[in-house]
Amino acid sequence: MSEHDHKHSHDHSELGEMDLRVRALESVLTQKGYIDPVALDRLIDTYQTRIGPHNGARVVARAWVDPAFRARLLRDASAAIASLGYAGRQGEHMQAVANTPGRHNLVVCTLCSCYPWPVLGLPPTWYKSAPYRSRAVRDPRGVLADFGVVLPEYTEIRVWDSTAELRYLVLPERPAGTESMDEEALASLITRDSMIGTGLALKPAP
Ligand code: FE
Repeated sequence: MSEHDHKHSHDHSELGEMDLRVRALESVLTQKGYIDPVALDRLIDTYQTRIGPHNGARVVARAWVDPAFRARLLRDASAAIASLGYAGRQGEHMQAVANTPGRHNLVVCTLCSCYPWPVLGLPPTWYKSAPYRSRAVRDPRGVLADFGVVLPEYTEIRVWDSTAELRYLVLPERPAGTESMDEEALASLITRDSMIGTGLALKPAP
């Protein structure tokens, strides 16, 4: 699910204002020679294209097909993720949390917007919003319902509060009917939201 089509009524006016402030700051810093717009564009491009949820999807797909990797991922996520080549800022200390029929994991940063950049890229706007940050802890089931995820009552929802020291990656459950799919096809079912816990992995096309 994209950040635009779930049912929270987030404050888009505030985002507009933030956007303006960022632009104003960027032009002032550029004029004063503190930042190079080309370098800035390259940095943003890196996080929008090279680094993003497709990295996390490869980690999860590997865990789905390779039990030994899955065990390593759950034991030492930072090392397992780095072994696939995904490492860097904001991902130095990772913990993977696996969904099971009895437990669903949901990640939030109640303080700000801590997020595992190397595997998921930059956080979506709603992840940084005050309503998500406060309500994920208070009413996780309600937040999930807003994202269109309705879990059985017997499924416990565990909320993980990210910090600057520790970032979480949700390992969603492998959907039924995917037994014959290869790793790459499986990766296409693994959405960003399924790795934050506000979504589930997609079902395979019939
Ligand atoms: Fe944070």
